[in-house]
Amino acid sequence: MKLLFVSTPVGALGSGLGGGVELSLYNIAQEMMRRGHDLQIVAPAGSAWDNLPIVQISGNLQIIAQSLEREAAIAMPENSVLANMWDYVRQVEDEYDLIVNFAYDWLPFYLTPFLKRPVAHFVSMGSLADALDQIIIQISQQFSGTIGFYTAAQAATFPELTPPIYYLSSGIDLSLYQFCSEPKQQLAWLGRISPEKGLEDAFAVAESTTIPLKVMGKIQDESYWQKIQQDYPNAPIEYLGFVSTKEMQRVLRECRALIMTPRWVEAFGNVAIEALACGVPVISYSRGGPASIIQDGETGFLVEPDSIDGLIVATKQLDRINRQTCRDRTQKEFSLEALGERFEKWFVDILNFQP
Ligand code: UDP
Repeated sequence: MKLLFVSTPVGALGSGLGGGVELSLYNIAQEMMRRGHDLQIVAPAGSAWDNLPIVQISGNLQIIAQSLEREAAIAMPENSVLANMWDYVRQVEDEYDLIVNFAYDWLPFYLTPFLKRPVAHFVSMGSLADALDQIIIQISQQFSGTIGFYTAAQAATFPELTPPIYYLSSGIDLSLYQFCSEPKQQLAWLGRISPEKGLEDAFAVAESTTIPLKVMGKIQDESYWQKIQQDYPNAPIEYLGFVSTKEMQRVLRECRALIMTPRWVEAFGNVAIEALACGVPVISYSRGGPASIIQDGETGFLVEPDSIDGLIVATKQLDRINRQTCRDRTQKEFSLEALGERFEKWFVDILNFQP
């Protein structure tokens, strides 16, 4: 297949501003190329990541959907990179079989009927905005099978989708994550530093248990970051910045557990499988993506949503978890091959369905 991937417009690919969808796009792209498909990626200026073939498009970045009210009208900055990227898509679409949209934005859905080539939309977050919900539902009805999600829990946040709905989960290159059987007495927290990720709950755990917490990730909301540090002055935390996968797994694998504290219905949680791949159990709230990744008592613990006490109790039971089991589970379900298999089938289904 000749595939044209269109990246998120909230940040350059590789910057971390786009969150987990960046790693997902990277991994799906690597696996599609390995399978012999032709691939081009359209992404904002400044995007660069290993060997990925990227066409860089300039323009102003899109405002992140998480920061907007549910009823907010669709907004775009002047000289929008999102609009510019799709303008490029329109010019070159004849050279491709399938366009794959990774943006959680209204415009690509709206443009779908105007394009000659089919568009596969990979939706990377749960429902956040009424206007976007409405157009996703409309496209699911009008273009059968073209909407893909990470998980069923994520898709369930959108009302009235027309089947078939594709649940594509995620996957990683396991060779990049080293197994560690003997961790240090430390915990990890990974992700975008933004209110919906609930980092303050991990601070509360660190403060109460006095176990050092290693924090890695992009600061997306500076005032939130300042506030939570003031709120937990005695929490033994160390912030290491936004680091590469290689650097991240070096620290992560030596931790006793990854603490995940999402306040929202997390669509998936790539960081969970990255931790498991290193043999690191995951402690999270029992909702959204993490609830479908973690086997309670086996590869980590699922605790009552928003219960800090629940997280603390779980940290005291980590000896019950076999770290090798964590690694083995990832190998089966979340390998790059398994990911490629699911996406390739979805793409083929869409192409077969074309009149
Ligand atoms: N990440 C990273 N370096 C860091 C911290 C995080 O590369 O220092 C990446 C991590 O690998 C993951 C992403 O950031 O792919 C966070 O994605 P996740 O799916 O957990 O959440 P999202 O941001 O999509 O809500």
